[in-house]
Amino acid sequence: MTETNHKDHWAASFDKLDKTDLELIEAAVNILKANFHPIKHQIGCALRTESGKIYTSVNIKSSGYGPCAEAVAIGSAISNGDKNIISIVAVKKIDEDYPVLSPCGNCRQLIIDYAHNANVILNFEGQSLKTKASQLLPGPYENSLTSLARSSRLSSG
Ligand SMILES: [Zn+2]
Repeated sequence: MTETNHKDHWAASFDKLDKTDLELIEAAVNILKANFHPIKHQIGCALRTESGKIYTSVNIKSSGYGPCAEAVAIGSAISNGDKNIISIVAVKKIDEDYPVLSPCGNCRQLIIDYAHNANVILNFEGQSLKTKASQLLPGPYENSLTSLARSSRLSSG
């Protein structure tokens, strides 16, 4: 009988944040500060595209499905024809602090589908770090959209 090596744990790699990452976090904090509402808008997001432009958003909670801030920001960038997303971050408000928030499961799939080559700034074990979008989900779902995302040109970011 042949032994097969199975990974016991999902092993993503993380990098420390740099100045541009901190600027992106600041943009997410600023949009949330400007639009915070305790029920409607509790999350801020900022993403940077290859053009250098930053798109910001807040989540828009509704009594039905209210999109996460990441979905609103990605939609905004795409709607402006600025599709090559190189980094993305979300923050929440806790008292007077605005810590980095890891993307939810839905947003991880969304980021893989629309920002496949991006750096994702997230909270890992209490630390703000970044990883590649492609590492957000182990054994990712495969369909025509995900293969389209993988085949899109590599960003310079
Ligand atoms: Zn989400």
